[in-house]
Amino acid sequence: MEEVDFNKFYLTARRHAKDPHNLGPLEKFNGHARITGPCGDTMEFWLQAHAGRIEKISFITDGCDPSLACGSMTTCLAEGKTLEEAKNITQKDVLAALEGLPEDHEHCALLAANTLNAACNDYLTQQKKPGGTDTQKTCETCADSSCSASKQRKGETPEEFADRRRLQTKLCRIRHKIIVLSGKGGVGKSTVAVNLATALMLADQRVGLLDVDIHGPSIPTMLGLENETLRSGTEGMLPVEMGNMKVMSLGFLLQNPDDAVIWRGPMKMGVIKQFLTDVEWGDLDYLIVDAPPGTGDEPLSLCQLIQPLDGAVIVTTPQKVAAVDVRKSISFCRQVSVPVLGVVENMSGFVCPHCGEITQILPSGGGRKIAADMKVPFLGAIPMDPAIAKAGDSGRAFIHQYATSPSAKIMQDILEQITVPDSKNKLNS
Ligand code: ADP
Repeated sequence: MEEVDFNKFYLTARRHAKDPHNLGPLEKFNGHARITGPCGDTMEFWLQAHAGRIEKISFITDGCDPSLACGSMTTCLAEGKTLEEAKNITQKDVLAALEGLPEDHEHCALLAANTLNAACNDYLTQQKKPGGTDTQKTCETCADSSCSASKQRKGETPEEFADRRRLQTKLCRIRHKIIVLSGKGGVGKSTVAVNLATALMLADQRVGLLDVDIHGPSIPTMLGLENETLRSGTEGMLPVEMGNMKVMSLGFLLQNPDDAVIWRGPMKMGVIKQFLTDVEWGDLDYLIVDAPPGTGDEPLSLCQLIQPLDGAVIVTTPQKVAAVDVRKSISFCRQVSVPVLGVVENMSGFVCPHCGEITQILPSGGGRKIAADMKVPFLGAIPMDPAIAKAGDSGRAFIHQYATSPSAKIMQDILEQITVPDSKNKLNS
């Protein structure tokens, strides 16, 4: 276990780390959750609740001393509370009760608060289920007659039908599919995709992150997975796993990260299809797809293959030249009947790393204006923050690593609007 030097400012945290309260699993429990954070630490909570109130609660973690301190303090805060009160315990509450933690370890409090929240949700879901049966819609055989892949279409060859059926069989096991689009490269599309997937993972959702940005697969770097290579399973390629997140990227197939990918159209389409059909995604709550930039053949075939898509998030920068592309992206979504979940204006103003003040260095508001003109939701503006670039370069999800920063709060508010209510998380401590 990693030794963390708690100096004299962290007396309470040190006390909880050395002598944690409520450590170890409960024998009888009716709420449970286990979450692995992007840092690799796993936190597990058990709770025994009666009449909507937590009577007993416990935790374990394989993380470092701050992780132990956060788990311990979180259980102390939740004990005796109603489920609703416990669900409202945030990272900020845990940090305040611990009287602070070294900044590098503040994310441990986020993991603890989120795992508690997920355990409470587990209890509440169990209460609602008649006989405790799993009502989640998954389909492994497509025997369901309402499924689009159950019947051969007119004019479809048996091979095409078999292909479509194989793809649909995979997609049927994924409850929500969201595509992240942008008019051009370099506007922060992958950054939004990575942080959205991480926020969902921290909310105890099973997440797949598919990097189809064929010419610039940056997700392995952004998640610190550059040295990962793919392995084969019984049904195809195995995605790289990071806790509750499964990641697939062309970057894992390149021998050298500096290799340029020069493929003609049909090859690109083939690889996109393979990433969906031949990857063992398993059962997922969300698949987040980082699409190639623009409105060309590649995003088009993605939108046609992934059916039904819950919707698209469109990322842009504030300048007029970039924002004009948003119009094209919105029109594109309308043509392929994909709902627009909203527009995110990224790099909107600059956050001073010293005082935190946001200065508008480029004209802003382009994304907001076009969203209003074209009657789609405007989700918000993320400032340009050196910590976002630093997190991306160091392979850590910004929303997790810098969870208490003002930009992470802004990002969280945006991401919460994208996720569906059953996975609403609480990073906004
Ligand atoms: P895209 O996927 O649109 O090509 P990326 O997400 O890869 O764009 O972002 C391009 C670069 O800009 C990355 O180095 C990323 O870390 C950085 N970046 C993205 N958004 C921000 C931001 N708001 N503040 C600072 N850097 C950012």
